[in-house]
Amino acid sequence: MIHFRIPDRKNNALCLRPPAFFLSVLFAVCLAGCGQKTESLTASDSTGKAELVTTGTGAADDPMEWSGMYFDTMISIRLYGDRAAEWMQGCADYCSSMENTLSAEKETSELYRVNHRTKQTVTVSDDLAECIEEGLKYSEMSDGAFDITILPVKDLWDFEENSHEGTVPDDADIQEQLKKVDYTKVHLNGNELSFDSPDTMIDLGGIAKGYISGKLKEYLTGEGCRSALINLGGNVRAIGTKPDGSEWTVGIQTPFDDRGTVLTTLSTSDDSVISSGIYERYFESNGKIYHHIIDPRTGYPAETDLNQVTVVGEDDAAGDALATIGIVLGENGMKKFLKAHNLTSSETVLFTDQDNSYAWYPSDPAASQGVKSQSKEIQDSESQNTEIQSIEIQGTEIQGTEIQSMESQSTEGNE
Ligand code: ADP
Ligand code: MG
Repeated sequence: MIHFRIPDRKNNALCLRPPAFFLSVLFAVCLAGCGQKTESLTASDSTGKAELVTTGTGAADDPMEWSGMYFDTMISIRLYGDRAAEWMQGCADYCSSMENTLSAEKETSELYRVNHRTKQTVTVSDDLAECIEEGLKYSEMSDGAFDITILPVKDLWDFEENSHEGTVPDDADIQEQLKKVDYTKVHLNGNELSFDSPDTMIDLGGIAKGYISGKLKEYLTGEGCRSALINLGGNVRAIGTKPDGSEWTVGIQTPFDDRGTVLTTLSTSDDSVISSGIYERYFESNGKIYHHIIDPRTGYPAETDLNQVTVVGEDDAAGDALATIGIVLGENGMKKFLKAHNLTSSETVLFTDQDNSYAWYPSDPAASQGVKSQSKEIQDSESQNTEIQSIEIQGTEIQGTEIQSMESQSTEGNE
């Protein structure tokens, strides 16, 4: 397995010191949560609707915000527009419904029922069919480095978020379960899903959040929303620009550092920014880390030279699958993969290696024309680290920054 290495700080990461950062966040939360504008749209979920307590009105100077726990992760949405409340309810209901559709863990979900089927051909909903179709596409493209039938092996491992405790399963069990992992045994024809083996089970954890954020984007843009920021457990989707026409600033979490410590930031509109990393769901045993992205060839956490892969592009589901694939293939393997599949013009990838030094591929989006994103690094010239105060002094830079981490999100203030 990978040797555990706490990255040193000599690299070029932009570090926001946690205490100041969290103070700033607390301040922002208090501003939003203690005011008069809190509105409860739905008191409970007994109606089947998502429980929704929002702040703000959706006006340019008062965005509507909502956050909730779905898919075992914190999600948050910020919306602008006259119909923000209606759109927010639509987004929340969709998230709630997708948890009951795409989750392999939740016993009431559609996917759970599919995995515990008695017949090998089942009819599935449009969303489940579409998400499986996307998952199979990337399973095939990556020749199984991404494999949506990883569930039997994944279930042996225990990667609680941030508990960092777990035990390595018996190798014999891993080998036994690994026999059940094979995406070629899954066939989708329209909404009809069939399996060659009763042992095959599907897990969409590597692609579901991207799929959902893509659908939320379709819904919101279809409704006429021109300004929104969606954060599904660190997977960020920007819709349009901020109301003043400026781009959103998205911060990338520094792996293995305190939450909210920013590695680098980029400015974007109408892109998704999706990361996979080995630093949120992992445990350490005998000096090695065991993380939650499994190499389907071995049944063990992928041996990777990367702490994190971030994919910036227009297709959210693609970004989610590709970020996971990047961890499995490693930097060189992933570059070859992107070239082989002609993805270098549609996706821009940030590779963060084991020292947390990072590089954009094919090129820094700030330097390339035609890519909407621009990297904006704000560095202290003496220490190469910038503290939150420095950024705040720089005014608008930090406003609206989404600190992107694997399973968390933190929002810096209102727009
Ligand atoms: P996260 O969901 O933590 O943001 P990822 O998108 O990389 O990160 O997804 C990791 C999840 O994907 C795992 O928790 C597991 O459910 C699933 N998974 C793990 N390894 C693979 C793999 N090789 N192929 C497809 N899915 C995987
Ligand atoms: Mg993924």
